[in-house]
Amino acid sequence: MSKKTFFISTAIDYPSEKPHLGHCLEKIQADVLARYKRLQGFNVHFSVGTDDHGLKIQRYAQKAGKNPQEFVDEMSKCFKDLWKLLNISNDDFIRTTEKRHIKVVQEIIKKIYEKGDLYKGKYKGLYCVDCESYYLPKDLKNNKCPIHHKPVEIIEEETYFFRMSKYQKQLLKQIKANKEFIIPESKRNEILNRLKAPLQDLSISRKTVSWGIPFPLEKKYIIAVWPDALINYLTTIDYPNEKSKKFWPADLHIIGKDIIWHHSVIWGSLLLSLGLPLPKTIFVHGFITVSGQKMSKSLGNVIGPFELVKKYGTDPVRYFLLREIPPTEDGDFTYEKFEARYNSDLAKGLGNLVARVMKLAEKSKVKSQSVPYGESQATTKIQVKIQKAIDKTQRDYRKTLEEFKFNEALISVWELIGFCDRYIEKERPWEKSKKQKEVINNLLLIIGEIAKLLEPFLPETSEKILKQLKTKKSKPLFPRI
Ligand code: ZN
Repeated sequence: MSKKTFFISTAIDYPSEKPHLGHCLEKIQADVLARYKRLQGFNVHFSVGTDDHGLKIQRYAQKAGKNPQEFVDEMSKCFKDLWKLLNISNDDFIRTTEKRHIKVVQEIIKKIYEKGDLYKGKYKGLYCVDCESYYLPKDLKNNKCPIHHKPVEIIEEETYFFRMSKYQKQLLKQIKANKEFIIPESKRNEILNRLKAPLQDLSISRKTVSWGIPFPLEKKYIIAVWPDALINYLTTIDYPNEKSKKFWPADLHIIGKDIIWHHSVIWGSLLLSLGLPLPKTIFVHGFITVSGQKMSKSLGNVIGPFELVKKYGTDPVRYFLLREIPPTEDGDFTYEKFEARYNSDLAKGLGNLVARVMKLAEKSKVKSQSVPYGESQATTKIQVKIQKAIDKTQRDYRKTLEEFKFNEALISVWELIGFCDRYIEKERPWEKSKKQKEVINNLLLIIGEIAKLLEPFLPETSEKILKQLKTKKSKPLFPRI
């Protein structure tokens, strides 16, 4: 029996420094979708990883007095540990220093060469080590990298060029034809605009850098960081073997807004050269600012996710990023905002509802959720009302999630929480009445529904609620801060 497949990836991270909160958003967004698709019965492959090679890593390792391998082994582990802590359900953690990856990259370079898409030449260009990318003079801002605002280096060396220009037309045509190739649309338009200018061929080797995958045609070169990194999406599904045939094209690459060009144009033309289809969708998220400023070491405002989880727990961190950060725009973190969300939505909203209903169930000894509904007119009416509320939430939830609007999906779940609160206030089930047990039972049913909807977002909390529903023993989900 073959299930429908769903391949979702995040970008692989540079392990030059320890992960910060900005790294977490993308993994959590991807995790929600991976879990959601699994629940829908898809055969999901969800990959994350680290981009271990390049000059930047080589220099950071030097500074730390370590050899690059030793350095990335330690750093990469930090990322791996963090994803475990955040309950990320990735099926693979791929590192570009792994043998399986080196093999695939070298095979692909050979294939591209055999196709006639590589030639040797001399490259003179401006290079930002932090981006591991070349810039044209017109792309710079005050002679500095437009992203890092740091001076670029002039590089002049012999190199292998990839005939990216050859694929410009084909790429343009395919991106134009697929409205969902890049989400949001504004980013897709930016790329389409940039593709109006003639596309330059791409230097894909380095001669003066040693920390990388040896170039298969000439071992004194290494393969440049970007082609090396992008190919991870094929390595993780075991290209060119059976698994890759099932999972390619990728359904979704989730990336940050600084690497859209690499994922649409560079990756796109490499795939076309290989005769492979383009990924179906590239979803672009914004960045996290801290009190309105860019998170940076020099500003001293870097938020450490390990400390944050230790203080508040995994699900509150997941919740904040999904609820507070607009999915495709920049969003702001402050401790005040974090604690406000925690208290109002988690402790008071969800936590309070579950605790209240559990206590009522305990006290009034409502045993199971499967008590048949009453036959009276009133009962039918409320049943219809409840079913309507659940249906509406499910519809909104599915629709918004398919559009990657994580915050709105959560809002729809919280509407159901609001519905329960109003129902409780109206029916006052703490008072003995004929309807008391039925009301509590209805509430238990809705809470079960809420727990199911929360599974992709707050897996730990969802499990705790479902367990409480079985044992009818209440335990606070989110102690007040
Ligand atoms: Zn840069």
